[in-house]
Amino acid sequence: MDELKNLSRLDGEAIVLKKTEHGISRRNIDADALKILFRLHSLKFTAYLTGGAVRDMLLGKTPKDFDIVTDARPGQIKKYFQRVFIIGRRFRLAHVHFSGGKVIEVATFRKHSSSAGPVAAQERDVQETLYGTPREDAWRRDITINALFFDAVTSTLIDYVGGLADLRQKKIRIIGDCGERFHEDPVRIWRVIRYAARAGFAIDENVEREIMAKRHLLAACSGARLFEEFYKDLNHAAATPVFEGLQRYGLLVHIIGRAGENYQTDAARFARLVQLMEIEDCEKANGFRPKFDELCAIFFWPWLEPQLAPATTPGDSHAILKKAFQDAGMSVLLPKSLRAQVTELLVLAVKMIRALRSGRVRWSMRARTQYVPAARLCFLFEKSRAPEGGESFESLFRQAYPHAQGPGPERGPRQRRLK
Ligand code: ATP
Ligand code: MG
Repeated sequence: MDELKNLSRLDGEAIVLKKTEHGISRRNIDADALKILFRLHSLKFTAYLTGGAVRDMLLGKTPKDFDIVTDARPGQIKKYFQRVFIIGRRFRLAHVHFSGGKVIEVATFRKHSSSAGPVAAQERDVQETLYGTPREDAWRRDITINALFFDAVTSTLIDYVGGLADLRQKKIRIIGDCGERFHEDPVRIWRVIRYAARAGFAIDENVEREIMAKRHLLAACSGARLFEEFYKDLNHAAATPVFEGLQRYGLLVHIIGRAGENYQTDAARFARLVQLMEIEDCEKANGFRPKFDELCAIFFWPWLEPQLAPATTPGDSHAILKKAFQDAGMSVLLPKSLRAQVTELLVLAVKMIRALRSGRVRWSMRARTQYVPAARLCFLFEKSRAPEGGESFESLFRQAYPHAQGPGPERGPRQRRLK
């Protein structure tokens, strides 16, 4: 039944909106992306802007990257453009490099293919079978509002999948049979929550049902792939609503194991996480770029804080953190170096919090490379707000213990190195 419905849509005409009907202005499109689109057009190829860029422009937001789809093959793009790198094993696509490190992805239209596994680059015939028409390309995408095409040359918007109606109704819907699409790639469940949260859209009821039925499949996804998604969302300026969505739909336990279980069952812990994440989101909106290890340390703090309570030495804190991460059963693969940095940050922050309680401090910790970010975390955890100019652990300590001996300028890390 679903299949029939899909087929009739597949055979149906696309909705095409003219320049006066969609409100997208070419002025909002990156100049290099426009150059690629116009050049491909002059070479008699079809080329569209797609994905998040089209969605964001229709929502009146500034797109952060501009993906292009075309009927030109990756080899042809390499031939006609400079500084092109072909990437991808299963499906090859072209990365066109520009000055300042800008990269624009140019993919060839492809059809839906559920078979996983890499295709060797030399298997040209197999690669050929993956290519498709614009309509097929739209249908192989995951969410309707992410599958719109914009033809910059004629300023027309092309919708094969009902994305425009869903944008109007503020709905997140999966293209094709939702259960099958989630089964093929469970990361789409996460993506549904992300785009619903970021746009403030409702999730279609059928999609919601399938999320509940298939969410456990996320745990079996590649840990590296889950890390990519985790990295993307935690770094994003609107991290909070996405993690609230992941929590609400019970996904966290399938992604970050016991930490997720804790955030799903202990409302107070999760409320604390939301409070801290909102502060960081606000900082990001003000142009501050927290490093990823800091964001991670903040993210896991509400879960780890009570576990760290019995620690009396930094050695204890180390051991507790090591065990917590080891036993958590996370599906997301946190790189070892990241875990080490997060541990270092939290051990130092705990030390500072203890110093604030006891009035005893060893200023030699100022020589630690993570001292400055850890001092910021300590301030954040203690005050539940971001530090402003001149504020940090040290200012808190001096306020609480005005007569305690200060660190003295000669004991900072810089002076030590100069000796
Ligand atoms: P943003 O980059 O703002 O997060 P985006 O929609 O551009 O949003 P990307 O992850 O950059 O998202 O992917 C680009 C496009 O590729 C998507 O818009 C979607 O059409 C398609 N896509 C990405 N991941 C999948 C997937 N797992 N299954 C099907 N299509 C996908
Ligand atoms: Mg994108």
